[in-house]
Amino acid sequence: MSQADEKLAVVIDDLVVVIDDLVAANHILFQQGVVDGFGHVSARHPGRSDRFLLARNMAPAQVRTADILEFELDGTPVDPSGPRPYLERFIHGEIYRARADVMGVVHSHSPAVVPFGVVPSAPLRPICHMSGFLGEAAPVFEIRDTAGPATDMLIRTPALGVALADRLGPGAVVLMRGHGSTVVGTTVRQAVFRAVYTEVNAKLQAEALRLGPPIFLTGEEAAAAAATNDGQIDRAWNLWLEAVNDPSA
Ligand code: MN
Repeated sequence: MSQADEKLAVVIDDLVVVIDDLVAANHILFQQGVVDGFGHVSARHPGRSDRFLLARNMAPAQVRTADILEFELDGTPVDPSGPRPYLERFIHGEIYRARADVMGVVHSHSPAVVPFGVVPSAPLRPICHMSGFLGEAAPVFEIRDTAGPATDMLIRTPALGVALADRLGPGAVVLMRGHGSTVVGTTVRQAVFRAVYTEVNAKLQAEALRLGPPIFLTGEEAAAAAATNDGQIDRAWNLWLEAVNDPSA
């Protein structure tokens, strides 16, 4: 093989691995209650950092390898005659453009998180060590600031994607007022892990708030816990993967 052929072979191997994880991520996120008929997960293209991979417009649990499409960062499908894409694909492309470190993005309407996007006095904060990636608190994106008071709430243009990515900043999670949330990771697996534990944290925080004012992790505790958990992601991933591969599990 020539050097160019060898390089291409490595890219194709990486692509197969990423697409396998992306298909599994779709199924895991459904089984873990993060997505339902709606929501989506993407991966940055491993061989072309100016492109990303995302399923066609369909329920995540039903995604198969053949459903994965390739997009430019501005949300344009690489194949213009391909199937219908998700309306909110601009979430993904504009975050990949803004954040060179991000390799996976999960957008969902996971239900326990939504209340924390609509009550300004109750920001989503890390209630336990598993969600240290939340840092001090998750920022909330207010679509009215960019697009006024009469939108359908969806990130349906590149400009809205840019505004959302800006609100996310350097963090792991951004809540979207009256809509849901978007979670990023340096791998698809990390993005999935964070999306699952964002929902867990929201449930726990709501429970704690019923009892009284909670004590949250400090920023330092959150950072230390997140660093420890980053070494354990495959333990959760492998469990969740087994569950989606064996429906009786
Ligand atoms: Mn949405």
